[in-house]
Amino acid sequence: MNFDNLFQAQLDKLKEEGNYRVFAELQRKCGDFPRVQNHGEGQDEVTVWCSNDYLGMGQNPDVIQAMLDTVQSCGTGAGGTRNISGNAHHHKLLEAELADLHGKEAALLFTSGYVSNWAALSTLGSRLPNAVILSDALNHASMIEGIRHARCEKRVWKHNDVADLDRQLQELPANATKIIAFESVYSMDGDIAPIREIVEVAEKHGAMTYIDEVHAVGMYGPRGGGVAEREGLMDRITLIEGTLGKAYGVVGGYITGSHALVDFIRSFASGFIFTTALPPAVAAAARASIRHLKHSSYEREMQQHQVARLRARLDAEGIPHVHNDSHIIPVMVKDPVKCKMLSDILMEQFGIYVQPINYPTVPKGTERLRFTPGPLHSDEDIEYLVMALKTLWKQCAIAHAVA
Ligand SMILES: *Cc1c(COP(=O)(O)O)cnc(C)c1O
Repeated sequence: MNFDNLFQAQLDKLKEEGNYRVFAELQRKCGDFPRVQNHGEGQDEVTVWCSNDYLGMGQNPDVIQAMLDTVQSCGTGAGGTRNISGNAHHHKLLEAELADLHGKEAALLFTSGYVSNWAALSTLGSRLPNAVILSDALNHASMIEGIRHARCEKRVWKHNDVADLDRQLQELPANATKIIAFESVYSMDGDIAPIREIVEVAEKHGAMTYIDEVHAVGMYGPRGGGVAEREGLMDRITLIEGTLGKAYGVVGGYITGSHALVDFIRSFASGFIFTTALPPAVAAAARASIRHLKHSSYEREMQQHQVARLRARLDAEGIPHVHNDSHIIPVMVKDPVKCKMLSDILMEQFGIYVQPINYPTVPKGTERLRFTPGPLHSDEDIEYLVMALKTLWKQCAIAHAVA
């Protein structure tokens, strides 16, 4: 039997559609971010414009030192699951830090944000009596997979549409355990959920709220607690989920909530129980990063400053981008082949790395380049990027209008 032709047929179809993913082979250079070494086509050194290490914390000296010190003192791996010999003091310290960050009683670590969503939602949905999960239409794949795995009733409400959510909650039987799952910052369009209105509707119907603040923790709120912190809403949300891999610059995921909620997930979630714990050094580095961003607003302010600057420059040059209230700047191309081509030219001719965002990450016809300026992009970096985009826009005859 030759199975490869089965694999190849599907890969060929992806390529025809322009949706085949090619990964850039880059090496991050500590101290030089957003500059990285390029092992692929084009220039040796390129500037990254699509990193989720939004604040450059991956090269923060305190974070690096915490990781180094802990590797030296504890060794590399955790040595087991949390249950069987892998539970380290560093995990407990980090969980306390996270609970404090979100003003909650407790927190629980996972190996990634993906796993935290998958494990927490599937456990809630499968174990709570008559559970119904009401999921925002644009929720991340990790939430969708968790909900699917829960095998409970699922309802999808229109993206950020509180009236639709309210209507769907109204239709549910009185004995349903209702769980509203949504994000704060949606990372592809960069729009922000109406959290206050969602919380109010939830309270009206006696529903639980589950928020994914993955693209907001570290970056919003006076201590980096996310958009819910900024809006003063953390105490009205049942469960806050986040990642340690984006603005915090390390890796890992977590949930925070009441003692009982966290103990429940700890006790029943397969995706927590049956996997090796994060290395203690990772936990220590993440904790250093969180502590830094609880006290320092400099990175957040500089990020917002550079985001505003790039937006203003794109506007001035007539390059269409989606206006939103976050740090994410989507430049719409609306064609998968053109999107990939623009990205290739930027990389090869200009030393600018921005990954094309195509289906299935975004709906077909909404392909885009997604820019995430940060505190370490200089004004010159921004000028150079705008100049490159301007040149390409002239060449490629892309409509100068936003959808
Ligand atoms: C990236 C992402 C996750 C997963 O987090 P990881 O720590 O990268 O696994 C979860 N939710 C959203 C909205 C994300 O964008």
